[in-house]
Amino acid sequence: MLDEASAFDRAMMARALELAAEARDAGEVPVGAVVVRNGRILAQAYNLREALRDPTAHAERLALSWAGRAIGSWRLEGCILYVTLEPCAMCAGAIVLSRVARVVYGATDPKAGACESLYRLTSDPRLNHRPVITSGVLAEDCGEILRGFFQERRSYRKLISRPLPKTSGSNPLPCGAGLDDLEREGCLSG
Ligand SMILES: [Zn+2]
Repeated sequence: MLDEASAFDRAMMARALELAAEARDAGEVPVGAVVVRNGRILAQAYNLREALRDPTAHAERLALSWAGRAIGSWRLEGCILYVTLEPCAMCAGAIVLSRVARVVYGATDPKAGACESLYRLTSDPRLNHRPVITSGVLAEDCGEILRGFFQERRSYRKLISRPLPKTSGSNPLPCGAGLDDLEREGCLSG
């Protein structure tokens, strides 16, 4: 839990958060991930589902794949995965397969989390690998960036789905009002 989190864990999660912010700026759901071994970053990634048009392009899955390439082996023994959001079932599966020693995540995901929330895949004794899990590191910031992203997206959707003002005749503006009048009346503001 949080008090176990070392300064190093927080520093790595802060890096994952920076990656999440890059994802947000690129229009992707803001999740970031970093893989570390011996105090060195091997791979880092953010969610790229939209850019790659790939439903599996979650931040931590990409980071695990790239870490494997970085060390020339799929066995990520001795590695630590830092990710801003609790991994989903797919990523929890990838974590078990990768044999990472430890997973540190920020916000919990009550809707899809598969480490502790919906499923406990990473601690299932029937599977052949169980990494140590640390949760709640910078959880507030990790959750906030996601909330902000979805809130903004909802208000944008509301704005573009708003019906156009009724027009009469060939005049594109209601009641013959000029654009300036509408702006003054607050009709065109968000
Ligand atoms: Zn995932």
